Amino acid sequence: MALPGFDFVVMGAGVAGLRAAVELADHGRVLVVTKESVAESNTHYAQGGIAAALSGDADVALHLEDTLGAGDGLVYRPAAAVLVVEGPLRVAELMEWGTRFDRENGKLLKTREGAHSLPRILHANGDATGAEISRSLVAFARAQKGVEFAEWTTVTGLLERDGVVVGVELLDHGGASRRVGGRAVLIAAGGAGQVYSDTTNPAIATGDGVVLAANAGAPLADMEFYQFHPTALSLEGAPRFLLSEALRGEGAFLRNDRGERFMEKYHPLLELAPRDVVARAIAREGMGDKPGENRPVFLDMRHLKGIDLHRRFPGISAFLANYGLDLERDPIPVRPAAHYMMGGIRTDLDGRTTLRGLYAAGEAACTGVHGANRLASNSLLEGLVFGARAAKAMLSDGLALFESSELENPVSHAGEAEEAAVERVITRLRKAMWVHAGLLREESSLQEGLQTQKACAHELKNLAKGKKASRRLTEARALCTVAEAILHSAIARRESRGAHYRNDFPVHDDCRFLRHSVFRKEGTGQPSITFEEW
Ligand SMILES: Cc1cc2nc3c(=O)[nH]c(=O)nc-3n(C[C@H](O)[C@H](O)[C@H](O)COP(=O)(O)OP(=O)(O)OC[C@H]3O[C@@H](n4cnc5c(N)ncnc54)[C@H](O)[C@@H]3O)c2cc1C
Repeated sequence: MALPGFDFVVMGAGVAGLRAAVELADHGRVLVVTKESVAESNTHYAQGGIAAALSGDADVALHLEDTLGAGDGLVYRPAAAVLVVEGPLRVAELMEWGTRFDRENGKLLKTREGAHSLPRILHANGDATGAEISRSLVAFARAQKGVEFAEWTTVTGLLERDGVVVGVELLDHGGASRRVGGRAVLIAAGGAGQVYSDTTNPAIATGDGVVLAANAGAPLADMEFYQFHPTALSLEGAPRFLLSEALRGEGAFLRNDRGERFMEKYHPLLELAPRDVVARAIAREGMGDKPGENRPVFLDMRHLKGIDLHRRFPGISAFLANYGLDLERDPIPVRPAAHYMMGGIRTDLDGRTTLRGLYAAGEAACTGVHGANRLASNSLLEGLVFGARAAKAMLSDGLALFESSELENPVSHAGEAEEAAVERVITRLRKAMWVHAGLLREESSLQEGLQTQKACAHELKNLAKGKKASRRLTEARALCTVAEAILHSAIARRESRGAHYRNDFPVHDDCRFLRHSVFRKEGTGQPSITFEEW
C-alpha cells in the first residue's frame, strides 16, 4: 500500500531529526520515521547536558578553542565556528519551545565537563537532559500541522531515480513493506555504538543510516574515530550504564584498585582531560600483570561536601541503587565503553551529501565538527544546529516532488532469515570489534578483525539470499558495513590521534595524516580509503 505523498522524509526522531522536522513543517508534509517509539534514541539517554556559549563573545571564542583542542588537530574549523556561533540561538529557541533546563533562583545552572575551559553545560532534571529535550521537541513537532510520525518503522532502503534520492523503503512492525516518495530525504538516524560489544548506546544504534548512504555511493568520513566513554558502569550482570562526565565535572576522582588517584600520570587536566586520554588511562590502570587480567578502576565521590549528589544526579543514583551502590557512600566500578561516532556521512555545512536529494545531520553525519575526538556535550548541540541547517538546505535546493504513486511496490520474498543465526553473527562481530578495533589498536589485530568482519559479511549474505528484509537483518548488515568502514579506516591511519590509538604508531604523523579519511564503497562493493583535506 502506498502512503499519500510526503514532501520530506526524515529518518530518525532524535534531536537532529526532530529539529529538522520543525523547520520543514511549514513547507509541506513531513514524515518522521523511527525504529521504535519516539522516545527510543541516543538523544533520550543523554545525561550530562548540552554545551552552549551563552555568556557572550568571549565564551563563544573559548568554546571554539575547546572544540578545536579536543578534536586533536582534525576539527574542520568552519564547522566548529558554525556550531559555537549558532548554538546559543538554537538553545534559546529550544527553551522558547518548552525545554526546561535546571535553574536556581531563575538563573540557568551551568556545569563544566572534560576539556571545557569554563562551565557552559546546561542540564535538565539533574542528569536527564536528553529525555527533556526529546520530550519537548517531540511535543513541539507533534503540534505542527505538517509533521507525521511513523513509529516502530524501519527504513530499509533508499530509492533512487537517475542518481537522485527520491524516497525510502519502509518496513513496519507487522512486517509490511511500502515505499514513500518525497522531495528530499534526511538521514538523522544516529550512531552505531552497537557495533561494539561494550557500549552505552541503546539497541537502535546500529548505523543503518550511515550504511544506506554508503551503499548508495555517498562517502563516509573519519570512521576510525569512535569515542569510548571512560566511565560506564563495570559490574557483572549490569548493563554498561553511562556514568556521566558531569560527575567528574562536579569533582569525582578516579582511583585504581590500590586506591590511588592516577590521572596525574596521564594529563595535567587530571580527571577532566579529554575523553580519549581518560579512557586509555583507565584501560591501562585496569590491565593486570598477565594478559587478559582486569583490575577494577573506581569513580569516587565520597570526598565531595556541600553537594547533594542524589538531587544533582537523580537518574544515576536511582540506577545505582538497583545494584546496591550509592554515589555518596561507595566507589563505583567503571571501565570504558563505545559511546559516540565522530565519523559518518560526509556532508557540507548544510547537511548536503554528495547525492542529490539526500541530506544528513546529527551523529550520522560528519561535518568534521568533532575532528578526532568530540568535546563533551557538543553532540546534542550539533543535532540542533546542523538539523536546522540541513532542513533549510532541503527547502532551498528546489528539488522536485516524487509522488509515492510513481514508485513500484517492493519485491516480496518468501520468508525471513533465521533470526537466531543472524543474532549469532551480530554477537561474533561485536566481540571482534571490541577486541580488535577498540581503545588500543595495532595492525595485526585490526587485520584479524577484518577477517572476522569478512566472514560475518559472507555469512549474512547467505542467510539473506531470497529472504525478506527483516529489521534485524537490516541492522546486522548495517553493523557489518560500519565495522568494515571502521576497520579499513583504522588500518589506513598509521598514527595515533584523538580517539584512534595505535600501539604500533603511538604518535601523530601530521605530514601524512592531518587529513580526513574517506571511505567509499565502489560500484562493485569494494571499499576504498583516501585521505583528504577539506
Ligand atoms: C547514554 C548516553 C549519554 C549521552 N550523553 C550526552 C550528553 O550529555 N550530551 C551530549 O551532547 N551528547 C550526549 N550523548 C550523545 C548524544 O545523545 C547523541 O550523539 C545525539 O543525541 C544523537 O542525536 P541524533 O539525532 O543524531 O540521533 P539519535 O538521537 O540517536 O536518534 C536516532 C534516530 O534514528 C532512528 N533510526 C535509526 N535507524 C533507523 C532506521 N533504520 N529506520 C528508522 N529510524 C531509524 C532511531 O530510531 C532514532 O529515532 C549521549 C549518548 C548516550 C548514548
